[in-house]
Amino acid sequence: KSHTLIMNLLSLSSTIHDVTSLPTAHHQVFIDGKFVESKTSEWLDIHNPATNEVITRVPKATQEEMLAAVDSCSRAYRSWSETSILARQQVFLRYQQIIKDNIKELAKSITLEQGKTLADAEGDVFRGLQVVEHACSITSLMLGETLPSITKDMDTYTYRLPIGVCAGIAPFNFPAMIPLWMFPMGMVSGNTYLLKPSERVPGCAMLLAKMMQDAGAPDGTLNLIHGQHDAVNFICDHPAIKAISFVGSNQAGEYIYERGSKNGKRVQSNMGAKNHGVVMPDANKENTLNQLVGAAFGAAGQRCMALSTAILVGEARSWLPELVERSKALRVNAGDQPGADVGPLISPQAKERVCSLIQSGVDEGAQLLLDGRNVKVKGYENGNFVGPTILGNVTPQMKCYTEEIFGPVLVVLEAETLDDAINMVNNNPYGNGTAIFTTNGATARKYTHEVDVGQIGVNVPIPVPLPMFSFTGSRGSFRGDMNFYGKQGIQFYTQIKTVTSQWKAEDSTLTSPAVTMPT
Ligand code: NAD
Repeated sequence: KSHTLIMNLLSLSSTIHDVTSLPTAHHQVFIDGKFVESKTSEWLDIHNPATNEVITRVPKATQEEMLAAVDSCSRAYRSWSETSILARQQVFLRYQQIIKDNIKELAKSITLEQGKTLADAEGDVFRGLQVVEHACSITSLMLGETLPSITKDMDTYTYRLPIGVCAGIAPFNFPAMIPLWMFPMGMVSGNTYLLKPSERVPGCAMLLAKMMQDAGAPDGTLNLIHGQHDAVNFICDHPAIKAISFVGSNQAGEYIYERGSKNGKRVQSNMGAKNHGVVMPDANKENTLNQLVGAAFGAAGQRCMALSTAILVGEARSWLPELVERSKALRVNAGDQPGADVGPLISPQAKERVCSLIQSGVDEGAQLLLDGRNVKVKGYENGNFVGPTILGNVTPQMKCYTEEIFGPVLVVLEAETLDDAINMVNNNPYGNGTAIFTTNGATARKYTHEVDVGQIGVNVPIPVPLPMFSFTGSRGSFRGDMNFYGKQGIQFYTQIKTVTSQWKAEDSTLTSPAVTMPT
């Protein structure tokens, strides 16, 4: 019974190209330790992005199911928050091993529903696994503070304690990594968790929930519902939910931040990006061009840390033709095909949007140096493919520069000096990630100090922090004040209780009431 779900999902993977035997399986909801059929009448089709065939369906959970999920979290909180920290740590030690043993299976489910290449999907799981491994350090991460003898016979100490039921709302682009930024940190801290994965890629989260159960997480500590706006509103409004972790677009993230905060909840909201790669003329040319091409077009540009914008400074402007040549060499194919570099976009709508942003650049005077809009992939003619595309002569006023494209499109701007490049980066509405390519330490230092961006790489194209640090973001890319994972992640999922205690020797008993403020 315990592996039925996994078998279902894996059998979906194996029928990926078999048009004649479309699977009839559909996703269930996970409530109070059971995978159950939803009673909903509203279903969403899930397509394989490489073929656009319907591969499965996902229910929009009913109000009753969502209420049952939160009630289950609330009940489980009573015992889970009191479970010893060593016991919680053991659950996550087992969990990390189960994920490790199943990386390939998880990656297959990601490629099937999300489209990215299998190798990239394994990376998606691996980066999430690192957060689970980090969660296993909870015995150190949750330490409080003590200060003895703040006055005679009096000591102060703090406890870091869980906050209650927490919820996560995830995007489509990292079906493993981003849910794993959320519930492991929340649960290991003693909270219970309601997860709503992206309705476009729920399969991987379902596998992760099953594995959580196999690792020994008690019933109700993790519940999983599916849906869109109604599920999001439910999470923002339900009084038992104390904190919301959101990752996704600005449209959704700003809304969730406002609605959740108004209801008194903690909200952390990681949102969109426009990440600049600043190329200095003294950079190692070979490395820089390869890193830029990989970071612009990997995962078909559907990464919040994709380097979607290049600023070529001074003499580096002459590197543009070589950048185009290298980008042409990437192989566009279905994610499960050997040698594929660039997979499909998530949906026909995403493809249409990306193509129209490319056209807006052309209309506004950008130079189309490489056009991937008409790419044909043999055997996958109906897939949502766009090949690597490069727009040159882009200026900061153009729509292709001000909007997040979220596709395999690199927009290239030019700057005379490092200061000009820094101004451009700081004037863009987003502040998620950036990278500078240089061999000059002083240049790198100036850049890292002067740009207002959360994640900065020096000769590192996609500087996603390891989980002992936190994933941050500034300006339009983040709302909230405590970031995901690392020390800040623990702060987000805990509250402080401060105890001041006095143990006096008997002969110093107070003889009259102290009516003044204690000092
Ligand atoms: P999305 O905002 O469309 O969806 C994210 C979640 O919000 C989903 O669970 C969805 O059901 C829900 N949702 C969607 N629209 C909503 C609305 N109008 N109101 C309420 N809820 C809504 O995002 P996506 O397309 O799945 O993901 C891509 C976006 O995520 C990009 O903008 C990308 O930059 C961003 N992203 C950011 C980070 C980061 O850490 N900063 C990481 C990954 C992705």
